[in-house]
Amino acid sequence: MRMSNAPQLQPVLDRIDADFDNSLERLFALLRIKSISADPAFAGDCKAAADHLAKDIASLGFATEVRPTAGHSAIVAKPNGGAKGNGRPHVLFYGHYDVQPVDPLNLWHRPPFEPAVTDHADGRKIIVARGAEDDKGQLMTFVEACRAWKSVTGSLPVDVTIVIEGEEEIGSKNFVPFLEQNKEDLKADFALVCDTSMWDPNTPRKSRSRPPIAICIPASSEVARKIRSGC
Ligand SMILES: [Zn+2]
Repeated sequence: MRMSNAPQLQPVLDRIDADFDNSLERLFALLRIKSISADPAFAGDCKAAADHLAKDIASLGFATEVRPTAGHSAIVAKPNGGAKGNGRPHVLFYGHYDVQPVDPLNLWHRPPFEPAVTDHADGRKIIVARGAEDDKGQLMTFVEACRAWKSVTGSLPVDVTIVIEGEEEIGSKNFVPFLEQNKEDLKADFALVCDTSMWDPNTPRKSRSRPPIAICIPASSEVARKIRSGC
């Protein structure tokens, strides 16, 4: 995005910098929830993560629901009053709040659900916690970007629908039928999938497909294929 086409961008970036500590704490609050989808003992924690995220996203002015699936709940957040249909692009954002199991615990240098900023061997500061890089960190980056943009400009530059599932780490078998049942509600011009790795420590990976939907995905993702195909 060229700065000349987005005069709001620098104030938004400044806002992100100014609110960084609060953003970090909001991410840490999500990272502390033990939303391990593979273990039924953590089903309550998965629901707690869904409720926590839904409440946070609602605070940005979205109409937000925690919707049941045959397994762990999914979150759907839509623009208040529905999509405006005013010709602006409509983006569907996808993320997941569940995380992988943490066994064996003795291989962790610190408790996996007590997030902390630590020093990496290469000199960078990194966040260490289960889910920090898959996918709570990525999805909260998007949520925080929306928060900053709305706080500076009063509204987002595009219509955004958010869908966040709780079973990506166990194969999304209940999420795929959920997408099929809710496809009218999740229609959009583009899908943005923030569940990918980096090209290198400083370069996010971005890929796209042809219209009608562009996606950032690992090519092997069954969920992404379903979203791309409009299911
Ligand atoms: Zn993931």
